[in-house]
Amino acid sequence: MQVRLEHVTKIFPGRDRKNPKDVYAVDDFNFDIPDGKLIGLLGPSGCGKSTTLNLICGLLKPTSGHIWFGDDDVTELPPEARGVGLVFQNYALYPHLTVRQNVIFPLQNLRGDQKLTKEVMNARAEEAARLVQIDGLMDRKPSELSGGQQQRVAIARALVKTPKVLLLDEPLSNLDARLRLQTREEIRRIQTETQVTTIFVTHDQEEAMSISDLIVVMKDGAVHQIGRPQDVYDDPANLFVARFLGTPPINVFKGSVKNGLLHIGDTPVLQVRMPDGETYVGVRPEGFELMTEGSDPLPEGVCPLECELTAVEVTGRDTSIVSSHPDCLAPSIRSIMDSEAASRVSGSKVRFRLKPAKVRVFDRNTESRIYDGK
Ligand code: ATP
Repeated sequence: MQVRLEHVTKIFPGRDRKNPKDVYAVDDFNFDIPDGKLIGLLGPSGCGKSTTLNLICGLLKPTSGHIWFGDDDVTELPPEARGVGLVFQNYALYPHLTVRQNVIFPLQNLRGDQKLTKEVMNARAEEAARLVQIDGLMDRKPSELSGGQQQRVAIARALVKTPKVLLLDEPLSNLDARLRLQTREEIRRIQTETQVTTIFVTHDQEEAMSISDLIVVMKDGAVHQIGRPQDVYDDPANLFVARFLGTPPINVFKGSVKNGLLHIGDTPVLQVRMPDGETYVGVRPEGFELMTEGSDPLPEGVCPLECELTAVEVTGRDTSIVSSHPDCLAPSIRSIMDSEAASRVSGSKVRFRLKPAKVRVFDRNTESRIYDGK
């Protein structure tokens, strides 16, 4: 089922007497969620993710705009008439019911020509349970399950009505780190198997990037970018998106362009074809190359970026060089090198050559991206 948001806006009236400004929780959203895809709504706290999800499922009505499921305008339909399955952060299982009874519960409420026989309900519950791999736990109570298992029961309960759209609001937040990883892979597997259009809300960029076909990056009720995770990472539309995606995050410096040379502070670090102006320079952690004696010479007019060395962290797989520079917006610069790099660092300074493909340049005023390393 394709889901389409058409000029959707949700305004909450300001209740604060001192600051009675209306809150634009969702401001003129226009996007399509393709049929059968998993889409991640991603952004910091308060950006409007849950409001968007609640608008799509019908728990909230938009102030203006329309929501379409395929060719049907569902804007005025209540949640129960939209055919959506919902899973929240707190699994909200009935503690006195068994897993089987919890999963069957939504089917027992069906009335009229939707009413099902006991046999069909049981078969549907078994099928949903098998899909999320809890079929061996059907006679347990929720208190006898781990957090991850409880969340699977909640997903089975959402799937049992064969929803057209599955909505997941921070479904992994209550799980520990290992279970989060395992459960997010499970969600991807279940979605791939069922091919149900799934909308997944999270503030964790790594989570969204790892399982989504598409991500919608949001801030303050506005959509900043929509795209495939790798494309958004590689080609962020602006500084906010660039900083929001990636662990460790992108390193941002104050910079400028003068006569075809990109500068960080006073150091010309890259040849670029851009007009002169004040910029921010973003360098991904993998965009630094350590310069030592015998390194290849730099292009004409370009100098190494010299930074104050803070620490060398060896993880086994790779090396993080932590350093600082007066024009970096953050107190430390994190660069990731191969595991051999540690042996090439000596003294209190490190000198880097920047890899053009990993450098992004943003306008200092608008913060829009103006250079993509090509
Ligand atoms: P979080 O990750 O913290 O859950 P979110 O991105 O899901 O945040 P929303 O819950 O959608 O954000 O809230 C978006 C904005 O709308 C926030 O500024 C919030 O304070 C405001 N808001 C949400 N619900 C209401 C409401 N019922 N009345 C007034 N303002 C609201």
